[in-house]
Amino acid sequence: MNEYDSVRMTDVVTPLGYRRVESPEGADLVILNTCHIREKAAEKVYSELGRLRALKLERKESGKHMMIAVAGCVAQAEGDEIMARAPYVDMAFGPQTYHRLPEMLAKASRAAGVPLVDTEFPFEAKFDFLPSNSMSQGATAFLSVQEGCDKFCTFCVVPYTRGAEFSRLVVEIDAEARKIVDGGSREITLLGQNVNAYHGLGPDGAVWGLGRLIQYLAKIEGLDRLRYTTSHPRDMDAELIYAHRDVEKLMPNLHLPVQSGADRILAAMNRRHDVDTYLRIIDNLRVVRPDIALSSDFIVGYPGETDSEFAETLRLINKVGFSQAYTFKYSPRPGTPAAVLKNQVPEAVKQERLIALQQLLSAQQSSFNHATVGSELPVLFERKGRQTGQVTGRSPYLQSVHVKADDALIGTIAVCRIVSAAPASLEGSLIKAGTSCQPLLVSTSKQVDA
Ligand code: SAH
Ligand code: SF4
Repeated sequence: MNEYDSVRMTDVVTPLGYRRVESPEGADLVILNTCHIREKAAEKVYSELGRLRALKLERKESGKHMMIAVAGCVAQAEGDEIMARAPYVDMAFGPQTYHRLPEMLAKASRAAGVPLVDTEFPFEAKFDFLPSNSMSQGATAFLSVQEGCDKFCTFCVVPYTRGAEFSRLVVEIDAEARKIVDGGSREITLLGQNVNAYHGLGPDGAVWGLGRLIQYLAKIEGLDRLRYTTSHPRDMDAELIYAHRDVEKLMPNLHLPVQSGADRILAAMNRRHDVDTYLRIIDNLRVVRPDIALSSDFIVGYPGETDSEFAETLRLINKVGFSQAYTFKYSPRPGTPAAVLKNQVPEAVKQERLIALQQLLSAQQSSFNHATVGSELPVLFERKGRQTGQVTGRSPYLQSVHVKADDALIGTIAVCRIVSAAPASLEGSLIKAGTSCQPLLVSTSKQVDA
């Protein structure tokens, strides 16, 4: 979502005469867009700011000014602290106020040296004030349809930094999606902190869920692929599950974070679902879309997590079989209920559990990838590969696929034969350029070996 927000911030400042550059050297304005989800992400901000300070000083020596702004959730949570720790920062503003950038920039340049902090949750919705998308995002694009969260999991800062749940209007999303497609993108990933909690007003005056929104957007000509992230198990309704059967453009891939495989931990986390509910959702998805690739987020070392509760997480992973996953050590976040619990798990235990979890999940990812060797998959090419003469794209299952082929393929979908698999990517050979958006040979890897 920060990537998407950065694109929108560029849209906001472009009419003021700014244009995006690829590195901060020589820039008039640097906006550091930040994440507060775990301590490590938040810490990075200060080391990054130290580097920017040196550039700002260099620029000053040649008589020029560099404005430094901190955006995003770290600014929201620690705006004043940033100004105290890094007084060379000109402004800090949260994720809900970036439509006010023109006023903020004018104010900051009028009163150079006076720090400006905007961490309000404004009454007006920022989307109503953003210029319409102008920048091309490449072959694949992001589109925020929902923001914020009302779920309050006990470990998470999102409800505090991004604010309450908000769903954009269907017509607004549809217009933005069409602009994105006109700009050359072939795939759109719908974004939201809880994207499947989407409940936006439709053109018929009714409230639409995500499944219905997907059905509607799939009608856009020139749009070949749709994805959505991140979903919450509680909001996986039947309409959305059936969209995986009925909407050809919806890719057979779902990121559905479960966090833990132990019911006691899930309850302590206030996740509002148990293991059985999660497994039932997966079963239903596999009934309608047997080849669906599943990914998830896991937290190890939530306060009080025992060895046997951790073992339950490993059991759940073995039952489901994931194509990919993100794993995290529990990180206490200021202001969240879990951060003040007394029974914190020692770092060494968290580390040990993380390694065991990662081993299992990488083995699953690797066997998922190997199961696609020999099949023919449509690949949407996004960029040049690392090696010369190579282009890189994504399979319907979101696997990275490297192919020796001409750059002209970038931005198009071509059918490739998968010739080999590495743990986290595939190598393919080009069969034919085309626009088919679904796999030709569906490789059903229902039970992935661990
Ligand atoms: N809304 C999504 C997740 C958004 S946050 C959901 O509910 O599933 C992205 C991921 O960061 C989470 O799924 C979780 O695994 C991880 N995360 C969030 N807070 C964390 C914390 N305090 N420590 C470690 N990981 C955390
Ligand atoms: Fe955070 Fe997701 Fe829980 Fe919301 S549902 S509080 S975003 S982990």
